[in-house]
Amino acid sequence: MKHIVILGSTGSIGCNTLQVIRDFPDKFKVTALSTNSNIEVLSGQIREFCPRFICVKDEQAAYKLKKSVNLKNIRLFVEEDGLNELVKQKEIDMVVVAVSGSSALMPLFYAIDSKKEIALANKEALVAAGHILMEKAARKKVKIIPIDSEQSAIWQCLQGEDKDKLKRIYLTASGGPLRKSSIKELKSISRSKVLRHPRWKMGKKITVDSATLMNKGFEVIEAMHLFALRPKMIKVLIHPQAIIHSMAEFIDGSVMAQLSVTDMRIPIQYALSYPQRLKCSLEPLDFCGLKNLSFYEPDFKKFPCLSLAYRVASQAGESGAVLNAANEACVEEFLKRRLRFILIPSVIEGVLGR
Ligand code: MN
Repeated sequence: MKHIVILGSTGSIGCNTLQVIRDFPDKFKVTALSTNSNIEVLSGQIREFCPRFICVKDEQAAYKLKKSVNLKNIRLFVEEDGLNELVKQKEIDMVVVAVSGSSALMPLFYAIDSKKEIALANKEALVAAGHILMEKAARKKVKIIPIDSEQSAIWQCLQGEDKDKLKRIYLTASGGPLRKSSIKELKSISRSKVLRHPRWKMGKKITVDSATLMNKGFEVIEAMHLFALRPKMIKVLIHPQAIIHSMAEFIDGSVMAQLSVTDMRIPIQYALSYPQRLKCSLEPLDFCGLKNLSFYEPDFKKFPCLSLAYRVASQAGESGAVLNAANEACVEEFLKRRLRFILIPSVIEGVLGR
């Protein structure tokens, strides 16, 4: 039995992780759950999964929860530091990091420090501090298993392979909600159009990042850290159908790809069960129903965030932290309608330059 904590259990990845766990009650036990402030969803999860620990970041929400749900035999952690304490608990085997943004950084750091197995959905922590986290994970002999579909695909393609024989990887990208929009249209694009992703249903932050392609840029940096690759070995390929989740090309010319239906439960389940494979209840991929699989180069002119991420990937030091912080601030301003979509890359570039 694997004892699992889900950081960010009320978000999209968190809920999907619980879906997977529901299918395997004899393999996984939910030991801890956490949310920022979504106590409505958390209450239901507490009743169903009876965790030993919970964490609610928002103090007022925690207070409300205490009044509405019986928390007997459950230890409650609160505030910023709550997650850092929570991940150290000795009953926990695996930490699923599904909170968004740089708030994942410190809990992830402490989870590695406490030698927990990690299933990582968050990108921002590796973008901001990949060198530090990977070095620590290596020293503590901790496995960081990716949940992100592209990184999971690469992880799977590299199983049993000699990493020295890898020539390059192809990170596929659906192209985001604005793939077909012209630069002219991007100048006056509305918030609601940006938030309408064609393939994946996700939180707001990552949906905006998908629209700017910063999400793919983050994945370039993430892959560089996870698989110890030089940025030149990482190619981004637009693949609108999102059926091939990424590919690895070896020096002998063979290319390995991982394909599946577009459902996050597949990479989540693999991260939870790795190195085993468990039976999945989803419908299989219908090859004859696929009209075609197409690929083309990303448009770096239309989506300068991707170039910025490559630039950061090839620089050592703290530029990843700067890139992430500037992006996080820009996305927040955009969501509050205080920054136009088209200006996001130039603001980030300005910050990086300084
Ligand atoms: Mn992804």
